[in-house]
Amino acid sequence: MSTDHHHHDHDHEHIDHPDTDAGPWSEHRYIEGALRELLIEKGVVTAEEMRAQVERMEGRNPGLGARVVARAWTDPDYKARLLEDANAAVDELGIEIQPTHLIALENTPEEHNVVVCTLCSCYPRNLLGLPPDWYKARAYRSRVVREPRAVLREFGTELPDSTRIRVHDSTADMRYVVLPRRPEDTEGMSEEELAALVGRDAMIGVSVVTKD
Ligand code: FE
Repeated sequence: MSTDHHHHDHDHEHIDHPDTDAGPWSEHRYIEGALRELLIEKGVVTAEEMRAQVERMEGRNPGLGARVVARAWTDPDYKARLLEDANAAVDELGIEIQPTHLIALENTPEEHNVVVCTLCSCYPRNLLGLPPDWYKARAYRSRVVREPRAVLREFGTELPDSTRIRVHDSTADMRYVVLPRRPEDTEGMSEEELAALVGRDAMIGVSVVTKD
């Protein structure tokens, strides 16, 4: 690592933080490193607080979203609250979602919802964890808007022509989660069993939930 092309006003070397990859320092990495050091030096946050927050963020996974879906499938009042105010409904299950505004989109036989961020990779991370690589890829971001049915077909999701597909574009302060349709013949299943059926992609809207 070379630090001789930028100036220090403090007396230590920038060090490779253990959670970053080795390799050349990009501009973003310099900015991140400088910001991280400044926040710690100025006492805004501690290194431990930063580490703990990263651990919390990376510990989130689609299982959180699946719990929300299963609750909505089994509790009509909860489903109504979820569709009315998703932030509050998710909060009821102890899932922290603030400050982003979350909207839940209900799939029906008439209408199927798909989520994208055409600009970058905005995603309901608090509910689903980190986005898959394809979600961030230019091909998905551009094509799902123009030809959603073809993109869904490539994911193995064939919808009847009578089902309208709506694509929702996420933003920095507006995130979407799809409430998939509950599969047939699951009346006897518990909430936990139902949650186990719900995959990440169904909550993005590129797949549907099946019983097996
Ligand atoms: Fe984005």
